[in-house]
Order: sequence, then structure tokens, then C-alpha cells
Amino acid sequence: MTSYINHFIGGTLVEGESQRTSPVFDPAKGTSDKEVRLGSVADVDSAVAAAAAAYPAWRDASLAKRQSVIFAFRELLNSRKDELAQILTAEHGKVLSDAAGEIARGLEVVDFATGIPHLLKGEYSENVSTGVDVYSVKQPLGVVGIISPFNFPAMVPLWFFPIAIAAGNTVVLKPSEKDPSAANWLAELFTEAGLPDGVFNVVHGDKEAVDALLEHPVVRSISFVGSTPIAKYIYETAAKNGKRVQALGGAKNHMLVLPDADLDLAADAAVNAGFGSAGERCMAISVLLAVDTIADDLVARIAERMSTLKTGDGRRSCDMGPLITKAHRDKVASYLDVANTDGATVVVDGRDVEVDGDADGFWFGPTLLDKVPLSSTVYTDEIFGPVLSVVRVSSYAEGLEIINSSRYGNGTAIFTNDGGAARRFQREVTVGMVGINVPIPVPVAYHSFGGWKESMFGDSKAYGPLGVHFFTQEKAITSRWLDPSHGGLNLGFPEHD
Ligand code: NAD
Repeated sequence: MTSYINHFIGGTLVEGESQRTSPVFDPAKGTSDKEVRLGSVADVDSAVAAAAAAYPAWRDASLAKRQSVIFAFRELLNSRKDELAQILTAEHGKVLSDAAGEIARGLEVVDFATGIPHLLKGEYSENVSTGVDVYSVKQPLGVVGIISPFNFPAMVPLWFFPIAIAAGNTVVLKPSEKDPSAANWLAELFTEAGLPDGVFNVVHGDKEAVDALLEHPVVRSISFVGSTPIAKYIYETAAKNGKRVQALGGAKNHMLVLPDADLDLAADAAVNAGFGSAGERCMAISVLLAVDTIADDLVARIAERMSTLKTGDGRRSCDMGPLITKAHRDKVASYLDVANTDGATVVVDGRDVEVDGDADGFWFGPTLLDKVPLSSTVYTDEIFGPVLSVVRVSSYAEGLEIINSSRYGNGTAIFTNDGGAARRFQREVTVGMVGINVPIPVPVAYHSFGGWKESMFGDSKAYGPLGVHFFTQEKAITSRWLDPSHGGLNLGFPEHD
């Protein structure tokens, strides 16, 4: 029996007017018994109308009121996070412990958003001219749009909507059509926490719904996370339509291991960051730059650790789950042939994996490739699977040059015990998020998340202080209360006295 995943508009689940749907799979089983509705222009219109109708009252709700709803949402989410983890594993495939980690990182942003009264404080300059004060306040934008990818169906929306809503905006979220249920669950939970109807709406869909959001005159901003080609399209199209845009794109993250590093620590980190969530993380390490003198040793330590990993159904205490779709699994697997043709050494072949799961699941095991040429598409493409490519370098300088030549600049890491080298790396590398002996340097919620180069379009990173900046517009007020001594006509440009 097929069930349907509806839109959440104006505080209720609705079928919408579009007749188009798309199957939602359980990737560990390779089967689908759910269809998600693919919203039309009219469905986006009704979500935006609901958000616009809810906006004046929500904008005018006191800071104390908005804060209390965020606190209630935080408590509910924390108490029911196991339910959400099950949803994530059933539709994305990531193992339950990883799903719990995703929720924990999303909850951090809700924690941050509970501090909204402090975050929205403006500035005040008294007596800038005699009897004149200037102050600035941060006001919400209005209706804001969020478009999210499949790989973090809870965390990525949570990067944006708690801050947007706390700041007084109303939201239309268009989640990935591959794993859409988490978005509805979060929106319904927020309603249960006391959020007024229409403040948080979810429209499911594909390009048609995305384009409708990008072109809608009432939508003031777009926050996007996904692949680089789509991020670039979103940035250009939304900007052309007069919107504020932050569009986070794809990645190819390098980990540089210097000869003085702790090789056990580096091998653990490479395995965790390369194969966690089956490599379907924008901050996954996909390239290991190993200095020649330690490369053989490091590759052996990584391969040894990989032999202990268990791939299978995320509900069965495995280390790594399946890939998101059959098509994606086949595409990832095709890079093994490319690696062979291009002269790389296949150290561990993910096609040979034995799985603890249904035969029809979208399986592909952890894969290790050595001596990958920089000209190979194995190196240049974002594979977005459990494929770790080792590139051997002669020195720190060669490693840095490779990283800085990449078109991507999301995350990177250096492993070394030399503080001077680490400090130099931190200053010289052209990447937005840097780890020093930390392989996945996702900043905590009170800093901001985002890459450089083709990993992010727009100038405002996600969450943290820059997230508050993105979802607010500043207004500067110059005031003078009547003082008889300041009367009189003066048509000149205002000067200070
Ligand atoms: P995707 O670009 O295919 O899809 C992202 C969103 O865009 C989805 O909601 C999808 O429905 C929509 N979309 C897809 N094609 C579209 C089109 N032609 N026109 C308009 N909208 C379209 O990305 P994905 O496969 O869901 O997610 C994986 C990608 O996201 C990877 O490249 C990964 O690196 C990236 N990602 C980046 C970050 C980051 O912070 N930089 C975080 C997570 C994921």
C-alpha cells in the first residue's frame, strides 16, 4: 500500500493541486512504499500566501514570546529525537548513531536561536550632534525560502529555519524529494511547540517548485544547500529576481598529512571522515594528501582499519549504510573503472563488500584508491560516496598548492605536530573551514558555516552571527527630540554641531 507525503501549509498537511509524485525509497532495502508530492507553482503560491499572512503577527510578537516558542521546540526536539533518527535512517540510509549526530548538530542551532533577544540587539550612539542620537535595529525580512539537499534532511534545514523564525521571519522550506519526511516532522513538532500556523511551511517538489520560489515576488531571500551547479543556478536566478541569496555548494575536501603527524590519529581520522555517512557529507574527506615518506605506512594503516568496518542496514549497528539511490550507487561504482583506466591503484574495492542487509539495498563499500593522478576525474569530480583517494606529495608546499588550486573550498584539514606548520596552513589555505588535527571542522552553532570558491555563492555563511545577519535587515534611525533652540530653516546638507 503506497502512502503519500503531503505538503505542510498553514499549519496542516495538504495534498496540493499538483498530480505529480516521486517515489521515496528505503535505501537499505531498495524498496519504496511512499510517494512524495511534487509541488506546482500554485502549491508554492499557497505556501507563500500562508507565510505572508502569518508574517505581520509573528513579526510583531514580542521577543519574549518568540523566544519561549523556540525554547519549547528545543525541548520537544530533544525529547523526541530518537523518532526523528528513525525517519532519517529509513529514508537516507545513514546508520542510527550518525542520524543521532546529525540531529545533535541541528539542535545546537536551536540552542543558539534561543538567544535571539541578545542576537537582535542593535547599536546606539548618543549625541552624535547636539541633541541628536543615532541607533540601528535589526528587523526581519519577511517570507524567506529554504531549499535543502538529501544528505542532511534534518540538520541542513535546522541550520536556517530556527534563526529565520526566531528573528521574526516566516518560512517556506523545499526539502530534498529523496528524503522528505523529516521536514514535515520538524514543522509539525514546531507547531506543537506553539508556533502559529503559517510561520513554517513545507512544500515538497523538484525544479518546478524551486523555480517558483526563486521567482516569487513575495519571497525575500533564498538559503540553498546542494551541489555546485545548482547552487550557482540558484544564486544567479534568485539574485536576478531581487532576492538576498546564500547558496552553499559541493566540495572536494583535502586532508594533508605531514611526516611528523601521529599516523594512528591520522588513519583513524581519514577513515571516520572518509566513510562516515557513506561519504555523503559535504565535509567528508575525499582526498588524502600524504607526504611521500609516510605514504606507504599511512595507506597500510587506513586499509587495516577499513577491514574492520561493517557495512549494512543502519538499524543493525553497522558502521556505514547504503547510498541514497541505485543510480547514485552505480555512478559512484563507475569511478572504479575510471581509477583503473587512469592508473590509480585500487587498494580496497567497495564493489566486493559483504553487507549486513537486504540484497536489493543500494550498497557500495568503503573504497581506497592510491596514487590517484590529479588529471583523473576521480580526483576532480565530487564523487559523494565512500571513496577515499590518496595523492602523494613531496612536501607541505606541494600539498598546499594542490588544495589552493581546487575549484572547491569547503573544508580541509592538516595533520601535524608542528605548530608552526599548522599556523602557516591556517593562514595560507584558501578554504572556508579549516581543521588542525580535526578532520571534519564543522564550526559550532555560534560560529558560522560556509566554504569559499565554488563551495559557496553569496557572501553570508549559514547560522551563527552571519546567519542572524542574513535573516535580518538593519535600519538606522537618526532622532532629535524637539528643542526650541534647534528650530529655524536650513536647506543645507545636515552637518554636525
Ligand atoms: P542537489 O543540488 O541535487 O539538490 C539540492 C536541492 O536542489 C534539492 O532540494 C533539489 O530538489 C533541488 N534541485 C535539484 N536539481 C535542481 C534543478 N535543476 N533546479 C532547481 N532545483 C534543483 O544536491 P543533493 O544531491 O540533494 O545533495 C548533495 C550535494 O549537496 C553535494 O554536492 C554536497 O556537497 C552538497 N552539500 C553541500 C553542503 C555545504 O554546506 N556546502 C552541505 C550539504 C550538502
